[in-house]
Amino acid sequence: MGLQGALHLIYPPQCLSCAAPVQSDFGLCADCWRETPFIAGLVCDGCGTPLPGPDSEERALCDDCMTVKRPWDRGRATLIYDGNARNLVLALKHGDRMDLARPASDWMARSAQPILRPGMLVVPVPLHWMRLFRRRYNQAALLSRGIARATGLEHCPDALTRRRPTGTQDGKGREARFANLLDAFVVPKARVMRVRDRDILLVDDVMTSGATFAAATEALIASGARSVSVLALARVAKDG
Ligand SMILES: [Zn+2]
Ligand SMILES: [Zn+2]
Repeated sequence: MGLQGALHLIYPPQCLSCAAPVQSDFGLCADCWRETPFIAGLVCDGCGTPLPGPDSEERALCDDCMTVKRPWDRGRATLIYDGNARNLVLALKHGDRMDLARPASDWMARSAQPILRPGMLVVPVPLHWMRLFRRRYNQAALLSRGIARATGLEHCPDALTRRRPTGTQDGKGREARFANLLDAFVVPKARVMRVRDRDILLVDDVMTSGATFAAATEALIASGARSVSVLALARVAKDG
């Protein structure tokens, strides 16, 4: 029996969501799997939201990405922010379930396959330091670290910083969300050379209107990034 086998006798693998026994580490039980809306099939190339119709080679865009100008190139998401996916995202964000970052970033690395480029730099959307202090960890940085490991790409967790606290985006309409984040991000001087002429994979836990991704993308482009693509753990299907 290997170490893994011995550990499984002491700590049998549990479902990430409900703690029911499962076959392997970092998995969901069959019930939770069914309740967790993983995105598959044809998706919007701008944000990863699922689209009706058969999967095809042609670039498809959702209504949002056709209406709102996206400063980034391409985008993908792993889950619809609904049902059990919502529970997992909130547990990672607020519930100190840092252990969820490992399986979630593996799922995200798989979702990102079509948009990955060799030599990409993986960068998380940062928290403002005051929020980081309260929460103790940035869930987006845990995810981006896991994605870099799973894909073999370089990770730069501090390529972006927030200039000012932007508060919550909850309850704000689309316009207010974009206005709230205007110039919110900057590439610190010490990181400009890391970002210059690079293709960036920008990572966050949730994409709602895309205002956060847009503001962070603009800061990266302003510092000379060649391209930015975005990757979210969960996509909110409709704007609140
Ligand atoms: Zn379960
Ligand atoms: Zn879209």
